Amino acid sequence: MLTCGCGRWMHTEGIEERAYEDGTPQWFIRSECLGCGLKVGADVPAGRTDGLVDRLMWTDDALHRLERMPPYMAPFYRDDVEGQARILGERVITYEALLRPRTGERIEWEPEAEQRLERVPAPVRAMARVELERTAADRGTARVTVGLMEEIKAKYFGMGAKG
Ligand SMILES: [Zn+2]
Repeated sequence: MLTCGCGRWMHTEGIEERAYEDGTPQWFIRSECLGCGLKVGADVPAGRTDGLVDRLMWTDDALHRLERMPPYMAPFYRDDVEGQARILGERVITYEALLRPRTGERIEWEPEAEQRLERVPAPVRAMARVELERTAADRGTARVTVGLMEEIKAKYFGMGAKG
């Protein structure tokens, strides 16, 4: 734990995912003293939180991604990701952790659905894959179909269905 000069524990306020000049991922961990208001920040190699993170935290990037999810889905998603982090003994939820396949779930893709996914623009493809697999799993089905894709596209990505 980080202690402020005034004698109180410092409270972790946020984590930014950054990179060193050579591209090595790093975290910038912000802490604040709720007693005197002092704020400090520390650069650490990604994954090394020793003593600087006082509870399970989402990085700013991961939070941003969560905020962009549909409201009906975000709470389930959050619980799921946090549960997974606890199982893995992790304190920090990163952008990348959100894309990690869930433990114990094997979601199958209908071939046509897989082909359609390839046509989704690259920046949202990984996210779309996660969304679709999550939705299928939430519904107790282990298969992503074209029908499900059309539904999610309309709801979440705001695109019209295309044959
Ligand atoms: Zn203080």
